[in-house]
Amino acid sequence: MSDEATQELTYSATKTGDRDILPAGMISVEEARARILERFEVLPPAEVPLLDAVGLVLAEDVRAGFDIPPLANTGMDGYAVRSADTSGATYDTPLTLRVIGYIAAGTVFDREVGPGEAVRIMTGAPIPPGADTVVPFEETDEYDWATRESARDPGAWQDAPRDSVRIDVAAKPGANIRPAGEDVRDGDLVLARGTVIGPAQVGVLASLGLATVRCHRRPVVAILSTGDELLRPGEPLAPGKIYDANAFSLAAQVRAFGGEPLILDVARDTVDALTGRIHEALGRADMLVTSAGVSRGDFDVVKTVLAQEGEIGFWTVRMKPGKPLAFGTFRSPDGRTVPHVGLPGNPVSAMVTFELFGRAALFKMLGRLQVDPEAWRRPTVRAIALDRISNSDGRRFFARGIASLRPEDGRWVVRLTGPQGSGVLTSMSLANAYAVCPEGVPAIEAGEECEVILVDRDLPIPLPA
Ligand code: AMP
Ligand code: MG
Repeated sequence: MSDEATQELTYSATKTGDRDILPAGMISVEEARARILERFEVLPPAEVPLLDAVGLVLAEDVRAGFDIPPLANTGMDGYAVRSADTSGATYDTPLTLRVIGYIAAGTVFDREVGPGEAVRIMTGAPIPPGADTVVPFEETDEYDWATRESARDPGAWQDAPRDSVRIDVAAKPGANIRPAGEDVRDGDLVLARGTVIGPAQVGVLASLGLATVRCHRRPVVAILSTGDELLRPGEPLAPGKIYDANAFSLAAQVRAFGGEPLILDVARDTVDALTGRIHEALGRADMLVTSAGVSRGDFDVVKTVLAQEGEIGFWTVRMKPGKPLAFGTFRSPDGRTVPHVGLPGNPVSAMVTFELFGRAALFKMLGRLQVDPEAWRRPTVRAIALDRISNSDGRRFFARGIASLRPEDGRWVVRLTGPQGSGVLTSMSLANAYAVCPEGVPAIEAGEECEVILVDRDLPIPLPA
């Protein structure tokens, strides 16, 4: 039976009378989310290899242990000289300095650059003592010389010693020199606790020489599909069977939200099968997500198992798709509380409910709500509906749509992706947004404005002509 048809169930406490997880009657999306979030904790910190930390949250302040750059160095390829020695140089009245050495990036030149001397220096190499400026190649005869040398001996000229260099322009003291500590000073707070690690942060951590970083652990989310009808992709299709889409769409969502999915084998619709799978998950996961078995047809099996094994509430959320939702907690063998979200089986409902509730739960475990309690929110825009969005039964309707900026007037517009049934998964695969029809509003007419939640804007979805 579909989740749309479970209108009149009276959900009640199944085991403990825990009123917190067992609200009576229909609840709003906000209330369901708040009750779910209450049961999640930020995961403990762990030392994580740098690249694995992308998407995680720093569990402690990161301070610099040295200056970056550690030494003053040149920002240009050129000649390190004393600026006083170049005074008066012009293209018409150039000067000549004696070349006493060559410094590549990564080496240190420890001789002093004396009056009348120059050192050929490559970008990033430390400024030698005595020099206070770098004359870039462009302001010397370097290119004339290089052209001449390479014509004579291609390949060998770069390291060829040269005795002298022509300086065409007077250099200002400090020109083209990047001072030590220009980016970071020893002891600076570089990244604060609570920072989400992305490409730039990982780069900064690497520049500090850190191979690992202390972050809140990445949540492991066990994903369990239930149903006698389910086959795994790759198996031959058989009469009466369908492929398990939910395990994969949910696992991909877990990944997109920053978690690590753990797909369990499908559980058949029996108490034993379900019990076995749940035990399998509890030792290894921080959260359990099941799909199907919370609508009326399957209600009893799931109810029995969950009531035996944990604390569970069955909720009716005023949303469409995805009205029935189970939420509860289990205890792991090592004494952790493992929250369980029981999603509806219909593939669209499963994804929409996981977007609305699972994302926030993952963000909480990741520590992303510590700095910004609303960090799980997607950007929303007001958009003009290009199609009529009808909402038959008064629940909040999340219609799958394609949102885009209309070039003519720069306004956001949203078009529906076609049939909106909870089993029509392609309506999700064509969408980049949910157009929201509020509770109690029978329709948004074409041309009217509505709220649009932008989802996965960085996935390329071709816009219809
Ligand atoms: P149920 O909640 O068990 O009544 O399932 C509702 C609908 O979702 C039924 O049509 C199921 O066949 C379908 N369904 C359940 N689980 C999955 C799954 N993992 N992948 C695709 N469809 C599913
Ligand atoms: Mg079923």
